Amino acid sequence: MLPRGLNMRSTAKKPIISKEQPGNPCQELLLALSDRETTLRILADDDPELRGLLLDKAEVCRLEVMGKQVYPRALIEFSNQCALNCFYCGLRRDNSDLLRYHLSVDEIVELALQAWDMGLHSLALQSGEVHDENEVPFVIEVVKRVKQATSRDGTSGMGITLSIGELGFDAYRALFEAGAHRYLLRIETSDPDLFRRIHPPSQSYERRLECLSYLKEIGYQVGTGVMVGLPGQSYEQLASDLEFFRAWDIDMLGMGPYITHPGTPLSRSRLPIIAHPFATTLKMIALARLTMPEINIVCSTALQTINPAGLSLGIKAGANVVMPVMTPDEHRREYSLYAHKKYSSLDRLVKNIADLGYEVALDSWGDSRHYFKRQGLAYPVQ
Ligand code: SAH
Ligand code: SF4
Repeated sequence: MLPRGLNMRSTAKKPIISKEQPGNPCQELLLALSDRETTLRILADDDPELRGLLLDKAEVCRLEVMGKQVYPRALIEFSNQCALNCFYCGLRRDNSDLLRYHLSVDEIVELALQAWDMGLHSLALQSGEVHDENEVPFVIEVVKRVKQATSRDGTSGMGITLSIGELGFDAYRALFEAGAHRYLLRIETSDPDLFRRIHPPSQSYERRLECLSYLKEIGYQVGTGVMVGLPGQSYEQLASDLEFFRAWDIDMLGMGPYITHPGTPLSRSRLPIIAHPFATTLKMIALARLTMPEINIVCSTALQTINPAGLSLGIKAGANVVMPVMTPDEHRREYSLYAHKKYSSLDRLVKNIADLGYEVALDSWGDSRHYFKRQGLAYPVQ
């Protein structure tokens, strides 16, 4: 049973989204979506027709603002070592059922060069949070070596995104000066109480915010995001997440459904989970696209893992970034953030995306348009 007033066909209330509305859907829905009540109604309504209309609007908006290009990031998960203990993640320190690995600088540079030769000119370097005084210098060396190896012909070389967790201001700045220019650090949930329920007391919400503000201050293109369908998470909290992204004026967004990992404390939670995490994630992507038309939104691996239609519907909902994986085969199983993680090769992504009528943009950085806009700069020809 739908809550009262949430059915699209309900005559008591005007439809939330109408097929007939003319004009630019980004503009048209922006007003409505700045109203929290409307966002909540869309998130809580499990009517497939409403979802279909929302995704249609998001697709039109995205095509108008971004075109058909989908930007790839060659993903290298270079270490699964982690000093933190997030309650939801298989890489957490206390998960002793995991063989830990850490690639060398040479191995990472070699993989980056392979990616470059395949036309992947943006790299995402991801790892657990390695608390070792040599780790930041290590990543700095990786960034510099990848830049040197790919800038030989006077071009700006490989675009580099980092996703290596919470660091201090000086470390973030040193990595930026070495050549990394995008950084992903998910807030996981914008609700401080829920954040506290899914992390140990040593990991604080305030520290995450502090890191995000450092990244912005330094000049990175800043990405954040949340998991959808966490135990105890409500639609209200998800609506607040969308408000959080707008308030922080973020450049990039990564959202995926929460997927349990049996070796984690959160897998034993008995708190209720929203009815349709997959469909809700799609709606979150579409709502983000409509309200923040120029940001980059990733079609997350988690979305593609829980449903075979994750790629096609994620792109339709407005995602414009994909991450073909370059992590060596022998380590993929060990980078187990969650169970049964699915990997997509570049060839498969290119084909599947072409089948959808979109196009993987090779040989380009695919930066966030929003970043250039907020800096008052022209978007470079990529
Ligand atoms: N250690 C870094 C990067 C690796 S984790 C960091 O934490 O930022 C990357 C992301 O994986 C996390 O931000 C989290 O949102 C996601 N993740 C971890 N465990 C997950 C799970 N069980 N289900 C879905 N996503 C998960
Ligand atoms: Fe470590 Fe990141 Fe997993 Fe947390 S989410 S345990 S920081 S890898």
